[in-house]
Order: sequence, then structure tokens, then C-alpha cells
Amino acid sequence: MSINEKTHWREKELSYDQVIDKYPDIPPILALKIDVSRRGIAYTDAAFAKVDPNKHHVEPFNYMIGHGKQISPIGLFLRDGSVICQGHQEVYDWTYRDPYILDVVDDKLVIVDNDRIFEEAKFWEKPDFYDKYTSNGTPMREIASARPQRLTIAPATKCHFWDVPKEGCKYCALFSAHRSADDEGDIRDDKWFDDVTETVNEALKQKGRYASFHMTAGSTLSGEEIFDDEVDLYIKTLKAAEKVIDAKKFPVKLVASAFSKKQLQRMYEETAITTYTTDLEVLNKNLFGWVCPGKNRLVGYDEWKHRLYDAVEIFGRGNVDCGIVGGVETAQPNGFEDEQEALNNVLTEAEEIASHGVSFADCVWNTLPGAIFMKQKTPSLEYYVQLALGLAEVRRKNGLYIYTDDYRRCGNHPNTDLARID
Ligand code: SF4
Repeated sequence: MSINEKTHWREKELSYDQVIDKYPDIPPILALKIDVSRRGIAYTDAAFAKVDPNKHHVEPFNYMIGHGKQISPIGLFLRDGSVICQGHQEVYDWTYRDPYILDVVDDKLVIVDNDRIFEEAKFWEKPDFYDKYTSNGTPMREIASARPQRLTIAPATKCHFWDVPKEGCKYCALFSAHRSADDEGDIRDDKWFDDVTETVNEALKQKGRYASFHMTAGSTLSGEEIFDDEVDLYIKTLKAAEKVIDAKKFPVKLVASAFSKKQLQRMYEETAITTYTTDLEVLNKNLFGWVCPGKNRLVGYDEWKHRLYDAVEIFGRGNVDCGIVGGVETAQPNGFEDEQEALNNVLTEAEEIASHGVSFADCVWNTLPGAIFMKQKTPSLEYYVQLALGLAEVRRKNGLYIYTDDYRRCGNHPNTDLARID
């Protein structure tokens, strides 16, 4: 990319101010959150100097990617209580747009762009359980992580769609340190499940912090039927957590592979979960084949959709979500070149899927190191704002809610953040 192209991106798209003038239904603070998610945020030395690892939630930099030694906070609070689920982001020579800056002015952390202060921010607080150890001697921070409002366990740190080279999803940087075929990922033996029980027990001693429980992992393809072993792992993990939770059902956000009806029935009957999420990622059959080749080869777009509809029969309308990577439909060379055409395509397909009782959780596509698409150019802020507003309208029209994925329990989806102003 030429220096010229890089420095002139601002002239080619509507600015933040122009977008909020043109779309009065988007709260300005949400437009900022979308733009920070799209462009990333880089911390100044002064911002890093404000980090107190005894008080703030820090992880090794790029912790979801699985490498890197420097620590960074992993998220920010904004004034309205909404969250930005991002830590410090490095700038690479291929980065198309310069990121926002997290700086310190008058002793306060502020989000800055082009020398203008946009918002005050705060780092997330460290969970109370983070410095503790299980009776097996395992650091509890290796068993669970947290957002300000939910507890997360990732039972598998390898996604087996990568077992066939390049069959993982092209935008994905998750668990990229565990992609070689002979790396089985972490071992989950009885000791690990005991650690889960103790960690959940300890986490729940922090009164008022957690509104929901979250589980996600890379896909496990093995078993008599594809994903059988993944289902077993989730059931065992949830049962380990349930030992210390006195409720038959409780808010669990499970983001998992597209399970068959038999597998979904097991999840529903054998565990406390009430909602289920499985991600089509890109709402276009042809692009799904290109962007998610492993999912396409082993399950396929139409079958993935049918499994979402099967899940609605078990969990009920509005209790099944489909995650999408908003914007990835414009990736080149096969994606839409025209943003309006892309938007029309996504919203038409979303309307059809939502009519079956499925809600959407829209993530903002950002190009991260470790992803095949790391050097791509993401769409404009205007596109992401239109997508969030359009998906929120699709949900309202179909009478769906978004309980475990809303701004309070998840906080990572612009369209579900809008549910708070319904
Ligand atoms: S299914 Fe796709 S998005 Fe999910 S971890 Fe695997 S490669 Fe990444």
C-alpha cells in the first residue's frame, strides 16, 4: 500500500461527525465504539503508565492470539457503562487506517483522534479470583477469564478447522499459536475439571460482578458424529461449573459449532444452558465457501442455517443467535466492492434467517495479525453504522430479544448494544 493511499483514507469516507449527523439514530458513543473496534486503539506511554496490574485486568498482549509477552489491559469502560473489548493494538506497515490513541490528559485516560479528545475511558478492573490458585496449584487466571460482567471459560484452545492448512476462517486470529496439525491444544483431564469447579466457586464470591457465564472454544471435529467430542467437552465443563451454582438453569452464552439436533438436545437436557450461538460469520453462501472453507466443506452454508433453525425448536425463538463478522463480506478479491450492495445482501439474508427466530450478534471486522485477511481493508464507519442499525431493526421487526448477548452481558456487538434503547 502506498503512503499516499494510507494518509488519504480520511478523504475517501465520511468522518465520525458526518456519520452521526447523517444517522441520528446511532448514539454518538456507540459510533465511537464501532470506530475504535474497526481501527483499533494504540496506547501512549502515558496510558501504559496508568496501568496497575494489581488493580486492572491485564493479559499478555495478543492473549487471544496466544503469543506475545508484554501485558496490556484487555478492555475499556466508557462513561455510559458500555465496554470496548480491545487492548493496545500495534500499528503495522500494512495497517490501512491509523488507530485511535489512548492518552492521558489532566490525569484522565482519554480516547483521542487527530488531536481531538472524544471520550474519557477507564480500564476494566481485575477479577478478584485472578491471583488465586486452585488446590491443584493451577493459577485460576489460566482456567477462566472475565469481562466486567461475565465469566468466560474456553475449554479448547485449538480449532481443528486448521488441521487442513488454510481451512480455518480467513479473518480469524483466535488461538493462532495452536494451528499446527500435531498440536492437540491443552489437555482437559479430571484435574482440569476440578480446577473449573474451584475457579467458578471462587469467582462467584465477588458479589454483583457476574451477570452471565460464557463458554467458547475452537471447533473439535472428532467423535462418532462430527462435533460429538466438542459437545462432550462443553457438557463436562458446564457440569463442573454447575456443582457450585445453585440453579437448574442460568444465563450461559455458549458460542459453539453447528450441532446436530441430537447434540443440541443433549446440551439442552444435560446442562443449565438456555441460549445457544453458532456463527455463520458471513451471510452469503458463496462468500461463506471462500471465507470459511473448513466450515463449508464439513457442514456447508445451508446445513449450518438448518442447524440454527433446529436449535430454535429446542431453545425457543430469540434464544438462538448467529454471530457474524460484520464487514468481511467486502474482503477482496471475492467480496462485494460496493458497500451498498454488500449491505443490501446482508440485511436481506438476515431478514430471512431472523424470520425463523434467530437473532444476530454482529462483531466488527478488524484485521489482526495471525489472520489470513490481516492485510485487507475493512469498510467505512458509515457501513458499520448502517449494518448495526439494520440488524437492530431486523431483530425488532421479528420480535426477537438478545438476552445473553446484550450490552450488559456481552458488550461486543454494535447491533445488540442498540437493544438498550428499544
Ligand atoms: S471456527 Fe473459524 S472463527 Fe472460530 S476459531 Fe475456528 S477458524 Fe476461528
